[in-house]
Amino acid sequence: MPVIDELIEANASYAAGFERGGLPMPPGRHVAVVTCMDARLLPSRILGLEEGDAHVIRNAGGRAEEALRSLVISQRLLGTNEVMVIHHADCGMLTFTNGQLRAKVERDLGTDDGGIDYLPFSDIEQSVRDDIELLRASPLIADDVLIRGFVYDETNGRLAEVI
Ligand code: ZN
Repeated sequence: MPVIDELIEANASYAAGFERGGLPMPPGRHVAVVTCMDARLLPSRILGLEEGDAHVIRNAGGRAEEALRSLVISQRLLGTNEVMVIHHADCGMLTFTNGQLRAKVERDLGTDDGGIDYLPFSDIEQSVRDDIELLRASPLIADDVLIRGFVYDETNGRLAEVI
């Protein structure tokens, strides 16, 4: 059975006990979290978030550049005013370069990737600093938005702030 069919079954159980309908669209706690798509991170569990609390924007690496579009929507239209950037210690983004992935795309798919920057990095704390800096420097993020960055350790569940 395809995994998606399993997920559909799981949803039926979830929906049967669902009691959180009718929440407003804007996040009640006015915060957006930008983090990696890594399967070991469940932001709602790590951060104690419930439905309606926060925006969680995920991509490979939790890169701010890719999240910028969503952050503008989150802040201008839905009232968030804090950003928590969370990268994590054992991130897959530490394991390849643009050139390596570009070559693999060409080998596997027989096509050029059009020069996509996959935004890999070689230093986890530096990648957090770079993303905080990118957001602080962006004219699309208001000066009074609070931006803080963290590294999550998937071996013990802890967050460490990157200063
Ligand atoms: Zn990752």
